[in-house]
Amino acid sequence: MESLADLKPGVVAVLGLPTDENSTFMHGPAQAPPRIREALYSGSANLCAENGIDLGADPRWRDLGDLELSGGSAAFEQIEETIARLLDRDLYVLSLGGDHAITYPILRAYARKYGPLNVLHLDAHPDLYDEYEGNRYSHACPFARIMEEKLAKRLVQVGIRTINPHQSAQARRFGVEIVEMHHWQPGFQPRFDGPLYLSLDLDVLDPAFAPGVSHHEPGGFSTRQVLQLIHSLRAPLVGADIVEFNPKRDLVSITAMVAAKFLKEIAARMIDSCQ
Ligand code: MN
Ligand code: MN
Repeated sequence: MESLADLKPGVVAVLGLPTDENSTFMHGPAQAPPRIREALYSGSANLCAENGIDLGADPRWRDLGDLELSGGSAAFEQIEETIARLLDRDLYVLSLGGDHAITYPILRAYARKYGPLNVLHLDAHPDLYDEYEGNRYSHACPFARIMEEKLAKRLVQVGIRTINPHQSAQARRFGVEIVEMHHWQPGFQPRFDGPLYLSLDLDVLDPAFAPGVSHHEPGGFSTRQVLQLIHSLRAPLVGADIVEFNPKRDLVSITAMVAAKFLKEIAARMIDSCQ
């Protein structure tokens, strides 16, 4: 990770969190952050976001590189403490996973800074399992831990299409607001009061748009539908993560480019909404 010495408050800091040891079905997302940067800087596209912000020239964001992570529970502590340190400097953090397990330690750090905040979670899966294959920190469980610790004031999940009775009961227990994929309508715009955190699991997209994910779940969003949702957010977007890109499953780097596109558009929305 780069030095923070000359970082001014208010800057959007992009940080890679290369870990997938809490993945269940297959590994690969630990290799994602460098592949996303490769796509971002490949020269096949410019660095302008659709709101006109040119990330190629704008000093209001910075790529800090990857955090070097140890294994096991120490990695969660490293993530929480590093994000907390960035938030102490009044930075806004856009994390690149890694698998979805990282969102729990990230939101622990966010709650220290902001108190419980609004969380918009885009995913094919609710990730609300109490435990999965004996692991309470599995990438199938982060939002159960987040809700138990009351790290989110509101959790709104969109794009879900794999809910089962256990996770349905968990959602009721925690008061999670779920917009299942089959109920979603074009033009849907969630409204939030106060700071917002966005957690974007790339498998919310239909696998036709993003084949580079571990869990192919057909019947999802198009890239444009997710972009419209991101562009429609009006609350101050103080943090975000892009998780579950698995380069081992990608085809012609298309998912890497989709992740790079989301990086640009989310960073630009963060810059625009927080200043
Ligand atoms: Mn997920
Ligand atoms: Mn998922």
